[in-house]
Amino acid sequence: MRKELDKNIKRIAILGCTGSIGQQTLQVIRAFPERFEVVGLAAGSNRALLERQAAEFKPRAVHFAEGDDRKAGGGRSSALPKKLSLEEIASLDEVDLVVIATSGKAGLSPLLSAIRAGKQVALANKEALVMAGEIVTREARRHRARLLPVDSEHSAIWQCLRGEKEKPYRILLTASGGPFARYTSTQLSHVTPEEALRHPTWSMGKKVTIDSATLMNKGMEVIEAHWLFNVPLDRIQVLVHPQSIVHSMVEFGDGSIKAQLSQPDMRLPIQYALTYPERWTNAGLPRLDWSKAGALNFELPDMERFPCLKLAIDAAARGGTAPAVLCAADEVAVDLFLSGRLAFLDIPRLIGRTLDLHKSRLVGTHPSLEEIIQADGWARETARLLASRGQM
Ligand code: MG
Repeated sequence: MRKELDKNIKRIAILGCTGSIGQQTLQVIRAFPERFEVVGLAAGSNRALLERQAAEFKPRAVHFAEGDDRKAGGGRSSALPKKLSLEEIASLDEVDLVVIATSGKAGLSPLLSAIRAGKQVALANKEALVMAGEIVTREARRHRARLLPVDSEHSAIWQCLRGEKEKPYRILLTASGGPFARYTSTQLSHVTPEEALRHPTWSMGKKVTIDSATLMNKGMEVIEAHWLFNVPLDRIQVLVHPQSIVHSMVEFGDGSIKAQLSQPDMRLPIQYALTYPERWTNAGLPRLDWSKAGALNFELPDMERFPCLKLAIDAAARGGTAPAVLCAADEVAVDLFLSGRLAFLDIPRLIGRTLDLHKSRLVGTHPSLEEIIQADGWARETARLLASRGQM
């Protein structure tokens, strides 16, 4: 009886549990308390929220960033269960599925731990695939770990591919275009962090919201799609679709196109990754109201006004450690922009300049993880130096 009951429960670890995706994952889990069990929770900086989540979901292990011990919960350290590293939580024996929702480079090492432990991985962190897509997908095949996309576009592509035997002829990756889709270059030069953080259709973390405003997010998603679905870069077409209702499409060899539509709400792709291959009815998820949906528009992106998209695609085509340099320079540039030390249009300039300097360095086509980490460190240092000298 006990065994039978356990088989129906999916045991989950969430890395990045206090971020936007982490919190929405817990909302989905809350809707199905008898089907999911939270075994591990890991947070970067919001210790107070982690303590509340741990009190509610009672995980066996947690992780929080060092140096944050004193902030919240002073004197209440016993409020948290056993503390483990991100890698340990990702590979715990009792975990069936790991949600990787940490942003930036921090997701790469625990992702590899989860893969090598043969876990199912719901992947919301795109930087890991952009930096090390070849290594990540090769390790996943080797260890029979399943990568389940959480990004809404990749979830849409995955859903369109279900039941199909043929490889996609082309992927049509949709983009909202961000808050500045209609801005002129002059208007773009005056954009403030506050304006860039106001995304028209999606509510997300800060880093990905700025990346959406520059279209770097879309560029990274092209690379992500390339690795997840093994489709050549030149068969991935970005389409600006301001309503964010069609989350992406797949075109097949016969010219037929399948699309996935729904209200823009990250809980749907999260839930699909958690319940795959099943679809569960969740009254908490919004349904599309066709009386209000209106027209759906699609157009090609303007790579001149939004150079980050082209920078990302070019870096992917160059391969080697160029995508890792792209990611690292972007993290530095977004940080500097958010703290008011870099103008919006200097984001692509700084990334482009860092990539140019990287060109002269010897880059192998199939870099090792060590070479990727090294390139990441070099790019961060170089981007910071260039910005401090105003050399964009
Ligand atoms: Mg996305």
